[in-house]
Amino acid sequence: MPLEYQILGKPFADNALFVRIQSGQAVHRLLFDCGESVLYPLANAEIQSIDHLFFSHCHMDHIAGFDTFCRMNYNREDKPVCIWGPQDIQRVIYHRLQGFTWNLVGGQPGAWKVNQIGANAIESTLYLATDAFITPNPQPAQPWKNMILSHNDFSVQAILLNHGIESAGYAVLEPTRWNIDTTALQEHQIAPGPWLKMLKDFSQDPGTSIAIGTTTYSLGWLREKLLKSTPGESLVYLTDFILDDETQKKLITWIPQNSVIICESQYSNKDLELAQKNFHLTNTQAAHLALQSNAQKLFLIHISQRYGILDMENILKEARSIFPSTFYSPEWRIAQ
Ligand SMILES: [Zn+2]
Repeated sequence: MPLEYQILGKPFADNALFVRIQSGQAVHRLLFDCGESVLYPLANAEIQSIDHLFFSHCHMDHIAGFDTFCRMNYNREDKPVCIWGPQDIQRVIYHRLQGFTWNLVGGQPGAWKVNQIGANAIESTLYLATDAFITPNPQPAQPWKNMILSHNDFSVQAILLNHGIESAGYAVLEPTRWNIDTTALQEHQIAPGPWLKMLKDFSQDPGTSIAIGTTTYSLGWLREKLLKSTPGESLVYLTDFILDDETQKKLITWIPQNSVIICESQYSNKDLELAQKNFHLTNTQAAHLALQSNAQKLFLIHISQRYGILDMENILKEARSIFPSTFYSPEWRIAQ
C-alpha cells in the first residue's frame, strides 16, 4: 500500500502536499496546507475527494487557496469535509465560510467538521450547509497525545511547534505490514492451509485453538513464530517553525525512522539570524534534522522570494553536503 505524494506549488510561491493512500479497498486523499494556486495541478475529482485538509497554521500563504477548495466541496454529499489545524483554525475557517452569501444553497447537503488541535485535546465543531454554516455545533472534545487520526489503512500524528504562534507538523504512517515467514513455517514443520489467514486477522483472540494435522496450536503462538513485521512507510510534513535545541530533540524522537520528510527551507544558511527572527528554518537546519532522524529522503519546500533561481542550486548543494538524499520537487525542473 504505497503512500503516493505530490508537492504542490512552485519555488518562491506557496507550497502544499497532496497524499494519496490506496489500500485496495479504498483510496484516501489528504492535503496539507492550501496556499494560493496550489490546487491547480489536481483534477477536480481529486479535490472533491480530499478526505482531510490539514493546516500547519493560518498565515495567508498557507490558506490563500481555501476559496477554491471550498467552492468544490461546500455541498459535498457523500462524506463530511474534515479540516484540522492548531490554534485559530476554528475562528479562521468559520469566518472564511461566512465570507460568502449562501442564500441559494438552502437544503443542500454539506457538513464541515473543523478540528482544532490544542495542547491536550482536540476541539471539534460541525458546520452545516443547510443553515449557511452559521451555527457552530460543538462536538465532544477528544484527548490526544501523538495520534490525531487512526484508520485501518493509515494514521496521522501531529506535533505542535513554535512559529511565534502555534504551528502543527504532521506525519502520515502506513500500518505495520505483516507477512508469513515461510522459512519459520518449514522449520516448525507446519503445513500451510486456510488457517494462515487468521494470523493477520487481529480481531481474532490469540487464545483461539487451531488444529493443524494432528497438533493443536494457539493462535498467539502461531503469530509469534510465523509472522514477520515490517514497518509501513511514513511521510512527514514540517513547515513554519523555529528549530531550537528543544524542538530539534523533540522532533528527532517524533519523526518515524526511514521517513520521507517534506520540510520548509525558507532561508539559506547564511541568513540563519533572519530565519530565527521570523521563526523559520534554513536549508542546513532541515538537512541536520533529516540526518539525525534517519530519514530516507528530504524534500525542501517553501523557499523565500528573496532568493533567485541561481541561489536554488547552492541551497540544495549546502543541504546535500549534510544529508545527501535532499531534493526539490521533481516538478520544479531545477538541475538536481
Ligand atoms: Zn507562517
